[in-house]
Amino acid sequence: MRPFAKNDPWGEPPWRIDFVPPKRPAPRTADFAIVGAGFTGLAAAAWLRLLAPKKSVVVFEENHIGAGASGRTGGMVLTESAAGQLSGLGDVLAGLKKIHRKLKIECDLALPGAWEIARNDLAETSDNARPLRGPSPIHWRDSGDLHVVSQVRGGSLNPGKQVAGLARAATRLGAVILEHSKISEIRWSDSPELQFAGGSLRTGKVLLATNALSFEVSGLTHHAHAKLTLAVRTAPLGERELEAIGLKSRKSFYTADFPYLWGRLCPDDSIIWGAGLVDPPTSGDLEEVNVRKGRSAEILKKFRRRLRNLHPELAKTKITHEWGGPIAFQQNFHPILAYHPKSHDGVVLGVFAGHGVALSVYLGTWAAEILLGRRDLPHWGRLGRAGQLDF
Ligand SMILES: Cc1cc2nc3c(=O)[nH]c(=O)nc-3n(C[C@H](O)[C@H](O)[C@H](O)COP(=O)(O)OP(=O)(O)OC[C@H]3O[C@@H](n4cnc5c(N)ncnc54)[C@H](O)[C@@H]3O)c2cc1C
Repeated sequence: MRPFAKNDPWGEPPWRIDFVPPKRPAPRTADFAIVGAGFTGLAAAAWLRLLAPKKSVVVFEENHIGAGASGRTGGMVLTESAAGQLSGLGDVLAGLKKIHRKLKIECDLALPGAWEIARNDLAETSDNARPLRGPSPIHWRDSGDLHVVSQVRGGSLNPGKQVAGLARAATRLGAVILEHSKISEIRWSDSPELQFAGGSLRTGKVLLATNALSFEVSGLTHHAHAKLTLAVRTAPLGERELEAIGLKSRKSFYTADFPYLWGRLCPDDSIIWGAGLVDPPTSGDLEEVNVRKGRSAEILKKFRRRLRNLHPELAKTKITHEWGGPIAFQQNFHPILAYHPKSHDGVVLGVFAGHGVALSVYLGTWAAEILLGRRDLPHWGRLGRAGQLDF
């Protein structure tokens, strides 16, 4: 069992990750190397071994499994990318369920649907949204009357259990996961060589699954922005309170206009809420951000006030956890699934712009199939520009 450290500078999320990969010596060679043990890297590792059990797979993780966004995420399951439906993407929820079944992952996946909420009835809703029939169950005071405008497929899962389930499946299928093994550089020669503190590893193909960290290694410096995004958990509410605030149906929710707000219920009727982005310091290093200090602390203070003002039933609600985690965007909000800028022996997958709980696992298995030469890269996944973000 691995809780996050009490003094973690990014705060402590409520999830527990009940799997620790067995310690192994680092091999010198492998058919496939994966950098990053979040949802993306772990799903790809398990899928590679499932499809090609004779090929060796080594996952390098700078910290511990789930230490990045995946162990800190809100756990809201969404079907579309942050840029809407992408051509040929397929049914992400059906795909996620199939992957969970094949890899024997239990993670409290519940799919009652999600609300799109807005102050303005003309707000741009998702490509697959259905307009709400009947009156809105939600009326919150938040820069206007925040109410339900449409409904989409989706729901929630327990992120700690999804991380543990993927890592357990990858290990059971024969992948080696090396924690506390940061890749500092990749030498892109005939066969890529990954450098880490204890030595180096030569490999056939590499998957870069480092999300908002290590842009120099993943080749994303000019293609994506990294920020820290914040979340809180409020204590469990009673049925009467849930009814009063409009969440009795237990649907997840997110705003279709700004200011942004998202959230979802947990099985014990506590609520995870999220909003707010923190820029990295001038060093560009997100790992220097401390959620208890400076800009993050200010944003969290305002966020607590905002939540308690949403509805009279929330005025005295207790906040049990506050934390942040890394998030990456490119200008067009598409996820990246492309060759590394320096070599076709490297594939980069990530930059889900806050829509990665389902998509990272679903596309992690695509990436495995691409590495095995069984699938082509999608046209929407190419490297774009970091560009100006208009929020
Ligand atoms: C607070 C928060 C709430 C969110 N809520 C939602 C939500 O409700 N719904 C949703 O769909 N999405 C949400 N997201 C986004 C979603 O969590 C992410 O898109 C997803 O977890 C990304 O997974 P990943 O594996 O690509 O990246 P990560 O989980 O960040 O994994 C990257 C891993 O790479 C490792 N790493 C980095 N550099 C190196 C290196 N050089 N060598 C070795 N290892 C390295 C890191 O330590 C990390 O473990 C949220 C994100 C955050 C932060």
